[in-house]
Amino acid sequence: MGEYTRRKIMQGGMLAAVTGPLAAGAQQGGASAVRPVAISSANGLRAVEKAMEMIRGGADTLDAVIAGVNIIEDDPNDSSVGYGGLPNEDGVVELDSSVMHGPTRRAGAVASLRNIKNPSKVAKAVMEHTDHLLLVGEGALRFARMQGFKEEDLLTDKSRLAWLTWKARKFENWGPGLAAPDADQKAGIYDPEVLAWAREVAAHPPTGTINCLAVNERGDLSGVTTTSGLAWKIPGRVGDSPLIGCGLFVDSDVGGAGSTGRGEECIKINGAHTVVEMMRRGAPPREACLEAVRRVAANYRNNRKKLEQISINFYALNKRGEHGAASLWNTSGSGGRKAQYAVNDGGQSRLVECAYLLER
Ligand code: ASP
Repeated sequence: MGEYTRRKIMQGGMLAAVTGPLAAGAQQGGASAVRPVAISSANGLRAVEKAMEMIRGGADTLDAVIAGVNIIEDDPNDSSVGYGGLPNEDGVVELDSSVMHGPTRRAGAVASLRNIKNPSKVAKAVMEHTDHLLLVGEGALRFARMQGFKEEDLLTDKSRLAWLTWKARKFENWGPGLAAPDADQKAGIYDPEVLAWAREVAAHPPTGTINCLAVNERGDLSGVTTTSGLAWKIPGRVGDSPLIGCGLFVDSDVGGAGSTGRGEECIKINGAHTVVEMMRRGAPPREACLEAVRRVAANYRNNRKKLEQISINFYALNKRGEHGAASLWNTSGSGGRKAQYAVNDGGQSRLVECAYLLER
């Protein structure tokens, strides 16, 4: 099995400049000149741009990151989040999200929410309008309705096709309707590229999700994580994204962290909380993320074969605006994309490589 080496951490960029404990001013919430920055999972180039635009305009950091991820939630082409997200095994899209507002140390979350395409906004409403933290399923939907959120079908033609293709694969004799994707291809109904994508996600359920974290010039931090969760999940399955301390954690004295990928593995190590606690003890964001990845691997005694089934990433941003990310694997699959995360610190959004534990 591949060993973590200093050289590997250095691959894809420099270690964060900081090596010592957080400065006293930052630890105590004192004023310091921070360069505002927003970071997110790799699917969030537009999200970090939007978040930074709002922060520069004086918006609250939580409003900024939520507005950023709303772009991805609304995008039918991102199959891991919001509208167009891949559904559960019944073909119903169920969304999970959490938010944390650093300055007021509040949080809100929803899980297994159906029919509302911006679960991050509902999570914020839970934070603002209740003294609860997490609403799930039917209760979350009723709350969202009460708050005036509009219900809509979140399945797109593309995600329905992927679900049907998965069904056809799983239940070979499910019925004549299941021949539909192939028959329809012959009839020229589906774009061959879309059909190839549907076959790929049916065979290898992809991981997705967006986590976005931001800090402003005063060192105020907030974060959000939003997802449609694991494709083809059992209805009611809840991942790490809506669980505070797992898919998201923000402590305004230290920084914030988030996770994407196999939620069950993140929950088992309380991923985002673990990362923030590492930073509290002085670890640079990148190192803190790598330590969380090591814990995931240790749960499988570093067994490479077993770890091949898992994809997981951690992202971290400290109160001084230093950031980093780490991934279990160097790429998203054999021949896949390099593990990266999105950053905007005032200029153009860019992708930065993550540290990683294992090479494919
Ligand atoms: N972390 C999400 C979950 O397990 C899914 C993902 O990021 O792919 O629900």
